[in-house]
Amino acid sequence: MDRQEIIASLNTRPPTVLILGGGINGIGTFRDLALNGIDVLLIDQADFCSGASAASSHMAHGGIRYLENGEFRLVREAVRERNRLIENAPHLVKPLATTIPIFKIFSGLLNAPFKFLGLLEKPSERGALVIKIGLIFYDAFTRSQKTVPFHRLVGRKKTLAEFPDMDPDIRYAATYYDGSILSPERLSIELLLDGEAEGEHARALNYFSVRGVEGNCIQLRDELSGLEYEVSPRLVINATGPWIDLANLRLGLKTHYIGGTKGSHLVLDNPALSKAIAGHEIFFENKDGRIVLIFPLGDKVLIGTSDLSFEDPEAATCSPAEVDYFIGMVQRVFPGIKVEPSQIIFRFSGVRPLAYTQAKIAGQITRDHHIHEDLIERLPVLSLVGGKWTTFRAFAEQVTDKVFSLLDFSRTAGTHNLPIGGGGNYPTGSEDTRKWLENLEKETGLPTRQLETLFNRYGTRSRLVCAHLAAGKDTRLVSNPDFSQREILYLVQNEKVVHLDDLLLRRTLLAFLGGLSLPLIVELADISGSFLGWDDGRKQKEINQTLAILAQKHGVKF
Ligand SMILES: Cc1cc2nc3c(=O)[nH]c(=O)nc-3n(C[C@H](O)[C@H](O)[C@H](O)COP(=O)(O)OP(=O)(O)OC[C@H]3O[C@@H](n4cnc5c(N)ncnc54)[C@H](O)[C@@H]3O)c2cc1C
Repeated sequence: MDRQEIIASLNTRPPTVLILGGGINGIGTFRDLALNGIDVLLIDQADFCSGASAASSHMAHGGIRYLENGEFRLVREAVRERNRLIENAPHLVKPLATTIPIFKIFSGLLNAPFKFLGLLEKPSERGALVIKIGLIFYDAFTRSQKTVPFHRLVGRKKTLAEFPDMDPDIRYAATYYDGSILSPERLSIELLLDGEAEGEHARALNYFSVRGVEGNCIQLRDELSGLEYEVSPRLVINATGPWIDLANLRLGLKTHYIGGTKGSHLVLDNPALSKAIAGHEIFFENKDGRIVLIFPLGDKVLIGTSDLSFEDPEAATCSPAEVDYFIGMVQRVFPGIKVEPSQIIFRFSGVRPLAYTQAKIAGQITRDHHIHEDLIERLPVLSLVGGKWTTFRAFAEQVTDKVFSLLDFSRTAGTHNLPIGGGGNYPTGSEDTRKWLENLEKETGLPTRQLETLFNRYGTRSRLVCAHLAAGKDTRLVSNPDFSQREILYLVQNEKVVHLDDLLLRRTLLAFLGGLSLPLIVELADISGSFLGWDDGRKQKEINQTLAILAQKHGVKF
């Protein structure tokens, strides 16, 4: 169903479950409920995956440092989910060698006991021994799965041979494996479309918000037309992440579940740094225990992240102080590499929906997830607090099971080994991939290079994209020949694009990897508008709005 059909169906087919929020936790739960045949409606007041889920450090990880907080259950769950993500979405989640440069040997051994006794003001820098112990646990949690190799710890000489630009004062380096989520935004939309593909009982609307409640009736508003609607679900799931308490307030519930922290990132075009990290994520800490990561993104580099107490998710932007801090941190590990502000091609920021606590150090607030249950008269409202991108599937499963127990349904299907989007029927190994692409070439007659590009972008969903390309006259974009007109049209028609920035920021990596120019933005507005029925005035409004978002939120100016 398209947007108008879904809206029209709200009267004739009321949803059993209403999910507020289309970040990864709402979408994960949507897919699980849809898979089990539940009538479910998901709404997001903005675009899907535009909140905390779009601000992540792109790591599918267990979170080795949470071991120090004694969070063994969380880390075990997260490394298992990391492995599942690599297996279920191999087109977008790849194993990632992660290296920790180590400058001390015994330091940090007392962090865990002090934390346990409530005496830890500031963790001290972790030395080789603490890191080694952590990595032994980390490997042990998934020893049987063997999805990624085990860790290794090497001395100064071997480290500098592999990373010649690293600070020569280094004593050791530990390398272990996590996962890299190339595009959290694409992974989310593909997961959402998988949910909708289960049938007309599963419906999702972006730019649709909750206004209020009357009895068991929830009032909704179409943010495009301004029209209001009512639905009477049997259960509401509040998956609005850092907005949870605000959304609950609209439902008449006064809660204080969230104590968010802001995290920012930079994307840099710095070939020397990109070469120096040699395809590894470099994961280290500042002298005060704050975590820094330098993360490979093709020929670009991502740097993050901060962890600062912060309330208003709408107001989160990367501040000049954060930029200075990140640049300084690169110097700590790669002192010879110059980073200039002019090399920043994109910045982004978001608020982690962490559980409210009195903890003094933001980095030590638990990243675990839990469900809070409230009632509006007799209507249950489940608020999904906390959680990591990595653990969304497990969290969604727990929420879905809770819904089943409250509504007296039973589970008919699970998501453990369920592929996501273009990860379905994904060829294993280069020979299989070659054959898969050869078949696609026979089916569509498209050139091999283009097929490879589309396969890298969309995994096996590229079969759908290619069929669309082959079904009509297609031309490469004038301002970026790496994309074609029909590819863009495919995304606009099939992936719930409403505004131009949905396409630039979330259906493609164009903005994120610094691939935009003013002529390209205009070209993309023309193509999108041709399908979405934008007149010249609307087109200009979309362009202006996109330029404002790029400048204010991402520091991208033309
Ligand atoms: C800086 C940072 C770095 C991170 N790094 C990692 C990492 O590397 N790995 C990892 O595993 N995790 C990471 N995380 C954590 C992870 O990204 C989040 O925990 C997760 O994305 C939260 O998802 P969510 O669905 O709960 O919330 P969100 O993604 O914020 O989704 C909530 C949605 O609700 C919508 N909404 C708000 N109010 C309403 C309303 N009234 N009605 C309808 N919709 C509404 C919003 O528009 C939004 O889309 C990071 C988080 C941050 C902020």
